[in-house]
Amino acid sequence: MEKKNYKFWFATGSQDLYGDECLANVAAHAKQIVAELNASGRLPYEVVWKPTLIDNATIRKTFADANNDPEVAGVITWMHTFSPAKSWILGLSEYRKPLLHLHTQFNQEIPYDTIDMDFMNENQSAHGDREYGHIVTRMGIERKVIMGHWADEKVQNRIASWMRTAIGIMESSHIRVVRVADNMRNVAVTEGDKVEAQIKFGWEVDAYPVNEIVEYVDAVSKGDMEALTDEYYDKYDILLEGRDATEFRNHVAVQAKIELGFEKFLKEKNYQAIVTHFGDLGGLQQLPGLAIQRLMEKGYGFGAEGDWKTAAMVRLMKIMTEGKKDAKGTSFMEDYTYNLVPGKEGILQAHMLEVCPTISDGPIGIKVCPLSMGDREDPARLVFTAKEGEGIATSLVDLGDRFRLIINEVDVKKTEKPMPKLPVATAFWTPRPSLQTGAESWIYAGGAHHTAFTYDLTTEQMADWAAAMGIEVVYIDANTTIRGLRNELRWNEVAFRK
Ligand code: MN
Repeated sequence: MEKKNYKFWFATGSQDLYGDECLANVAAHAKQIVAELNASGRLPYEVVWKPTLIDNATIRKTFADANNDPEVAGVITWMHTFSPAKSWILGLSEYRKPLLHLHTQFNQEIPYDTIDMDFMNENQSAHGDREYGHIVTRMGIERKVIMGHWADEKVQNRIASWMRTAIGIMESSHIRVVRVADNMRNVAVTEGDKVEAQIKFGWEVDAYPVNEIVEYVDAVSKGDMEALTDEYYDKYDILLEGRDATEFRNHVAVQAKIELGFEKFLKEKNYQAIVTHFGDLGGLQQLPGLAIQRLMEKGYGFGAEGDWKTAAMVRLMKIMTEGKKDAKGTSFMEDYTYNLVPGKEGILQAHMLEVCPTISDGPIGIKVCPLSMGDREDPARLVFTAKEGEGIATSLVDLGDRFRLIINEVDVKKTEKPMPKLPVATAFWTPRPSLQTGAESWIYAGGAHHTAFTYDLTTEQMADWAAAMGIEVVYIDANTTIRGLRNELRWNEVAFRK
């Protein structure tokens, strides 16, 4: 993952009605806000102060400059005084990047003893931000509104969260997914309209014959393969479980070769996400397991059985969480088996092999075990259990006439007992508001068995991303009721009718 040097512009709206002294104060206040936001250490990207905007021409030019500067990921707007919003129409109509309306005020408290009309005129965002908000709404422009005092920790954390959404919006169109096999035969939910995905999200989804990537795997030198295998042996616990040590290492080395070959292919051809399919492996000796887990850990998106939508979503979430302090991980995941014991309900999450080690809690082991599917040799895989904590499971589905993003808030827990015979990485979670309502809602909404899961983003962040992409979003959280959700789905049928 390479973090781009994105910045956010801070554009303050005003007007010249109250004289130069007022405008000088407006600029000084905005500069102080920007300096303190940057000094807070809470924002993942830098905020850059821009000269106060007071008329059509400067507003239009500022937004055009923001469009044209590849380092600008968004503009934060705030009306310190009153700024007649007709002046904003042209600039806003031409602006194409994420927009935050920070509805704040320089002073936190009304200065009761000294307040006069000059102070009121200078500090009237309660008034000016409504005028501005009106025109943004009237023009139907998607934006985020955050209200509160700019020095408040909660407000700063919300700005920080929105910045990550903005990065997701900006970077979505740079996601390129390589399909090294087609979707699994007869499966519906992993399918979708790739042209529409490119129109909506900017994703490029390309197919290659499996053996074209296999050539890259075959070209990996023995030395490189052995060196990476040594690294695995240093880093992970080797769980032979009765297998011959030499034969075990040979199986692990096959995955090292796949990791190196796949990564070279991805880098050379500029892809950041990949799908595989256990039934279409060409000249590969094993289903890529450990290799894919390592690539996901490095920031690549992945979807199994040709699931390119989930692969792109995993990549998107990796970008959005990049560099997050104390990040707990993001992975491709699959709903497998329930625990239905009252009071202990949850869903055991895993996949055949491909779970990202970023979500692991504690040591990671390597196992070599047979796969019940496919016709290749026993693949090596990383095994571990996931961290406890809150997370979100997301599923992007194609309903035929539109995409829908389903977001379920989940609580990841430890299973009651270890599962010594299960040779895959796992997580165990209870969907909110409960397994029963969560699973019923998921099924009514048409959610898939594959998900893009993360501990490090919120429902709000993903919902804002979906809104910016112009797609439907359905969330399932502590407040979800079946009656409410089914009504929402009915209303969305109308709201998203073409
Ligand atoms: Mn699957």
